[in-house]
Amino acid sequence: MKILISAGPTREYLDPIRYISNPSTGKMGYTISEMALKAGYEVILVSGPVYLDPPKGVTLIKVEKAEDMKDKILQYMPQVEVLIMSAAVGDWRPFLVKEEKIKRKKEWLLRLVPTPDILLEVSKIKKEGQIIIGFALETSNLMNNAKEKLKKKKLDLIVADTPAFFNKKGVSRGAFIYSDGRVEEFLNFSREEVASKLIKILNNYKK
Ligand code: C5P
Repeated sequence: MKILISAGPTREYLDPIRYISNPSTGKMGYTISEMALKAGYEVILVSGPVYLDPPKGVTLIKVEKAEDMKDKILQYMPQVEVLIMSAAVGDWRPFLVKEEKIKRKKEWLLRLVPTPDILLEVSKIKKEGQIIIGFALETSNLMNNAKEKLKKKKLDLIVADTPAFFNKKGVSRGAFIYSDGRVEEFLNFSREEVASKLIKILNNYKK
């Protein structure tokens, strides 16, 4: 069984030396990749820029921009059974990327436009039997926002969590929300626990 996993942040350049991004470490996607390999899956890992060594045995595809991540995910999607979209894809990119370094000045008004919603694009080419899992990191209204995303992006499962993964302990509270309406809440889960639960869920889909 082949799994496509995305991880890490994306970067959108403003000029040749500056970008906007987010503090995602990529640890969630890399942990899932490692456990999926151990469970016998073939893993294609599409990763934004992170400071982590790829687990031995993965096919690693490095990307920077959301647009490039979209291209790679759409390219590999037809050959996998599962997509786990754990990347923290940036939602905004500059309208114009300046070719030269922007000099200091009194004010700089930056015009941003949305990046492509990768999962929304994937939902259009999803084949029967393929399983798509997304993540929803929210600062408020966690469950409702996550449920809305599950529906809009036609996911089989969404992992709703709080930004607690950014804290030192690396534990989080949240829920696994399934497309059939089932909800399993969790409290103080480490990344390893979230990853191992996902592998168990995948094994159940196979049965
Ligand atoms: O950013 P958001 O909360 O909408 O992310 C929810 C899910 O959608 C995540 O699994 C994320 O990887 C994915 N996503 C995406 N394309 C984007 C933004 C997020 O596929 N442009």
